Amino acid sequence: MNNEHYKYLLTENDLPKSWYNINADMPVPLTPVLNPQTREPITAEFLNVLFPMSLIEQEMSTDRYIDIPEEVREIYKLWRPTPLLRARRLEKALGTPAHIYYKNEGASITGSHKTNTAVAQAFYNKIDGTRSLTTETGAGQWGAALAVACKFFDMNLEVFMVRGSFYDKPYRRIIIESYDAEIFPSPSDRTDYGRKYLQENPEGPGSLGIAISEAVETAVKSNGEKKYSLGSVLNHVLLHQTVIGQECLKQMEMADEYPDVVIACCGGGSNFGGIAFPFLHRNLTEGLQTRIVAVEPQATPTLTKGLYAFDYGDTAKMAPILKMFTLGHDFIPAPIHAGGLRYHGMAPQICMLYDAGYIEAVAIPQLETFEAGVLFAQTEGIIPAPESSHAIRAAIDEALDAKEKGEERVILFNLSGHGLLDLSAYDAYHQGQLVNDTLDVNPEEIRKMLPKVDF
Ligand SMILES: *Cc1c(COP(=O)(O)O)cnc(C)c1O
Repeated sequence: MNNEHYKYLLTENDLPKSWYNINADMPVPLTPVLNPQTREPITAEFLNVLFPMSLIEQEMSTDRYIDIPEEVREIYKLWRPTPLLRARRLEKALGTPAHIYYKNEGASITGSHKTNTAVAQAFYNKIDGTRSLTTETGAGQWGAALAVACKFFDMNLEVFMVRGSFYDKPYRRIIIESYDAEIFPSPSDRTDYGRKYLQENPEGPGSLGIAISEAVETAVKSNGEKKYSLGSVLNHVLLHQTVIGQECLKQMEMADEYPDVVIACCGGGSNFGGIAFPFLHRNLTEGLQTRIVAVEPQATPTLTKGLYAFDYGDTAKMAPILKMFTLGHDFIPAPIHAGGLRYHGMAPQICMLYDAGYIEAVAIPQLETFEAGVLFAQTEGIIPAPESSHAIRAAIDEALDAKEKGEERVILFNLSGHGLLDLSAYDAYHQGQLVNDTLDVNPEEIRKMLPKVDF
């Protein structure tokens, strides 16, 4: 028994050799992806304008395991395997009999899980001959991850960063520039869509949906010179993140325990899918009943209050139409500090599983997440990303529920990133400037903006 331990560490030899593809075990039929112009099922040719063929194959694959290329594993070794920790000091502060474990993806080179897919996407683009990538970023985590990955594979990168964050939170912009990528505030005057939007809304703060439109337009109009890269939502992105959960399976074994509940915050769904899918695999194939909980902000309650419908992935209606829980592609979120959790939609794989009852979802107000993040910092020492604090809040609530019921519940959550570049958000919290933004969702308003489709 290893029961005195705090950390469960794997060696580089334990790094997974393949990614786990949940489409092989999906208990419900896969929903089609539609072409935004024809609203018919999308073709590989259409997708190939945006993505290299190797990633499109992964997007559509139903193979259960997909080999991780040696070049990608070599780069993963800069920070992987990441540690699993038992949050003993947090447990003590809560006085709970529950055992709380967390996977520290904040240990990556850019401070979040996003590098897991950034490196893979840059690699596949490189071998397919792409010289230049475009992307969007909200708070800057994805832009930073893709910028370093592009540098490692000697590719150019253009990043469209949501304007509010570009000016209010300069540090990730500086990181992106340090990795030698180009970065522009979005809406920008570099695209037709950005110019049009600026004319109509000169003071608009921008949104992830608008930034995606600008990055997609830049790739589409480059005559094949540039491809586009997305940091969440799509199947291949969630696939690449499954290194997280696969490592956790081994580490929980080292701890001689197995989680009763697995928790992660959910923006587009990639860190959630990354930790949860390998555990769902065991639920689906071995009949285990681990509860899987997605946590979102009350200001962006996509799963808990959105409509399950076909919607555009971006504001300008250029990105593929996906069946997902959505707040509507024109949605402009409240300026909460969990920038990574403000997308209007959600990964289709997660939506299918949620709709069919295989996973749970909760929405949490901003002040409670910061309260949880601060307690975590004061007990475990790590300042968590505001996004990750949503998972911490839900883990604490589970631990308190277990205390009330006198259960030794085993809780595992994903610490998707550290918050050292989000200190202005903590400052605002300490100064009492944060509020609980709750979104009142009007389903009729959302329904009005949805595309008409026959599926
Ligand atoms: C981007 C981000 C998220 C949200 O994205 P997902 O695709 O839902 O994982 C969560 N946490 C951190 C630290 C992030 O950077």
